[in-house]
Amino acid sequence: MSPSALHQPLATIPVFFCDAMQAHVESLSPSAHKPLAAVQSWLALGIPLSVIPPKPVTREELARAHDRKHVDAILECRTMNGFYTRAADVAASLPYTSGAMLAAARKALRNGQVAVAPTCGFHHARHAKADAFCTFNGLMVTALALKDEGLAQRVGILDLDQHYGDGTEEIITTLGVDFVNHYSSAEEYNWPAQAEEFLARVPSLVAGMKNCDVVLYQAGADPHVDDPLGGWLTTDQLAERDRLVFQTARELRIPVAWNLAGGYQKPLRKVLDIHDNTMRVCSSAYPSASREGLGNSLVLGPGSPGSARRCKLTVLNWNVCLAQRASTTSEGSIGRGYRSSGGACPDERRHGLWLGKDAGWHADCRIGQPNLDA
Ligand SMILES: [Zn+2]
Repeated sequence: MSPSALHQPLATIPVFFCDAMQAHVESLSPSAHKPLAAVQSWLALGIPLSVIPPKPVTREELARAHDRKHVDAILECRTMNGFYTRAADVAASLPYTSGAMLAAARKALRNGQVAVAPTCGFHHARHAKADAFCTFNGLMVTALALKDEGLAQRVGILDLDQHYGDGTEEIITTLGVDFVNHYSSAEEYNWPAQAEEFLARVPSLVAGMKNCDVVLYQAGADPHVDDPLGGWLTTDQLAERDRLVFQTARELRIPVAWNLAGGYQKPLRKVLDIHDNTMRVCSSAYPSASREGLGNSLVLGPGSPGSARRCKLTVLNWNVCLAQRASTTSEGSIGRGYRSSGGACPDERRHGLWLGKDAGWHADCRIGQPNLDA
């Protein structure tokens, strides 16, 4: 892409998601099922997004960051994943979660600004060991893929999660990686009294990655004061952290691919509120005249040619359901005509995805084929 094509206003914020990124795990961590909840919540904000299904990464791409035998054992459910289970649906989701991070980084490099992977569970994953809800290190998988593809000479990993990115650091050390700028705030900051000092430093942390072609930003929600595994930043301070990251990166023309990272408050809505704020300040930091006045309009993602058909179909139809929901929420008649009749919709078995049990929304209602029972 020519330099003149970069930095054009983004009509939509690109978000890489498909239902194959989801798994169902009983755990302290909501990571396995948070991608869908986050995207659903963002769409309800009325911020125009392009929801694009990512391609899964290959075993070879995972094995750039991880021991190949470990990769095989995880994907074949012969060893424990980061949730300390051998669940097949977790294994199946992992190429897609790392794939979303890689796709977001590639996209940010192309548009010169920003893209999003609604993913978690990366930074504690080591070269040959899963740990602490993290199985594969999608940050390092992405960095190594970008380098190998010649898309980036240097990659920044700005990890502002509550917890130290020990897995990231271990992989860097194990492989002798010399092209990644890794900064993890947990090494220095943990206390409410440090909040103002930390926020004052964020612009220089971003500027310190000016020599990177792209920055992978972990916008963790778990530093929140009410988080059971966190405890030092308020809601407003977390939003200010994100605003400073995006504003500085935009001013310095450093592309950013961001993800969700941690967040353990219950109910999940409290965590989603923090991720909503990250998306809000992201949208504000990358303004677009073409987005003004769109209100609750949603822009469908174009899909990617190499993606699984199942994901593409699901996401496109799912957006339509969400568009209905966003346009009618204020009147209390959420998505009239698209409600599933108690799980009886024949598409459910084929695609197997529900939007959320509270709203009763079926993700796979087809365009032009609303459920007649609703
Ligand atoms: Zn964390």
